[in-house]
Amino acid sequence: MTAGIVIIGGGQAAGWAAKTLRDQGWQGELSVVADEPWDFYERPPLSKAALLETSPAMPHLFSGDVLSALNITWYRPQRAEAILRDEKVVVLNSGERLPYQQLLIATGGRARLPGAAWQEHPQVYTLRHWEDARRLKQRLAECRSLAVVGGGWIGLEIAASARRLGIAVTVFEQQAALCQRSVSAPVSAALLQMHQQQGVTLHCACGPISLADDGGLPVIACGGQAQRFDAVVVGIGVDLNLELARQADLAIEQGIVVDAQGRTSDPAIFAAGDVAQHPDYRLCLQSWAFAQNQAISTARAMLDASAAGYSDAPWLWSDQYQHNIQILGIPQPDGETVVRRSQNSELFFTLKTDGTLSQLVAFNDARTIKLAKRWMAAGRVLQDIPLADPDFSLMSLR
Ligand code: NAP
Repeated sequence: MTAGIVIIGGGQAAGWAAKTLRDQGWQGELSVVADEPWDFYERPPLSKAALLETSPAMPHLFSGDVLSALNITWYRPQRAEAILRDEKVVVLNSGERLPYQQLLIATGGRARLPGAAWQEHPQVYTLRHWEDARRLKQRLAECRSLAVVGGGWIGLEIAASARRLGIAVTVFEQQAALCQRSVSAPVSAALLQMHQQQGVTLHCACGPISLADDGGLPVIACGGQAQRFDAVVVGIGVDLNLELARQADLAIEQGIVVDAQGRTSDPAIFAAGDVAQHPDYRLCLQSWAFAQNQAISTARAMLDASAAGYSDAPWLWSDQYQHNIQILGIPQPDGETVVRRSQNSELFFTLKTDGTLSQLVAFNDARTIKLAKRWMAAGRVLQDIPLADPDFSLMSLR
């Protein structure tokens, strides 16, 4: 077999990389190793439409025509077991050996669980894959009470979907505030209020949680209290699939260390999506926008070493109830002020001590997020601007 480009992973980053490689003129062999049997699909609908619609369609990334034009040689469902860097070969669990000129690692992550017992209980669910969504949807249809362990983005989106279905929802979060790692305290408080208004019971700083069983139903115990639920969904973060990168002895910090072009410490190996550490922020972002756009930049650089690198600010969005919540940037630990602006929408500006923006969270205001991307890229100083004044037009800052 001729050595071409091999992509390990079949998710969103892998899909966009494959498409970009073909769009940019790669005509050689393009192989994708994926451990799910499906064509590339998007994950955001899994916690929303896939749970709420009567017959949800699989959210494929590309139409059948676009996909077949990519002329991919699939190895699925299969797992890459090893990367032999000296030989430039990927070894699959089937024993097959795939030679590569260039390799892209886009292996994503897997849902975490608090302990082994959780894995075995039939009414404990996680949400990462299409099959997870199908299984959870079936259970929600007969469910009256749901526990959500983890008050992060997955947990809150599922809580919102379950409330839409009329299910009583209780959220358990070990931190003192919701989504504490990714937003400022006032935003966490706004999220809390929003869910309380929708009838969700939330226990922040809940302490250690344990799971028991009562006649086949899960019982969640924490803070000296125990409650039985019809089902439990766990959304306590992901473990990145870094085993291959470790085995290949690539540089790893939070995730695989890559430069702005997605190149790892081995110049023939690239990484994209959840496992790739943001080249400037040195964090793994696990967001839809990063998976898509960093993968596109990386694929371009695989074919053209002079291609522009990736330097976008972190950006994610979450749809909960009637709200579209967009989060641009990351709050820094110290010395920041949060300015809140309430008008038709809610905006939370987090400013660094030098007056530049470290984060904007917008409830139902995509337009201001777009503007703020430009402010961030330009390092615009905002501290003397009356951001909180509803009579001041933010659009005047364009
Ligand atoms: P997440 O956003 O990291 O939130 C998980 C939360 O659960 C954290 O606050 C975590 O606290 C808490 N937690 C950890 N262990 C716990 C325990 N034993 N009991 C109770 N709470 C516990 O992770 P996620 O919601 O599972 O989402 C997985 C990944 O997908 C994340 O990276 C997320 O950003 C991404 N995602 C993105 C979107 C979006 O872009 N709209 C939607 C869904 C998911 P600690 O911080 O202390 O660990």
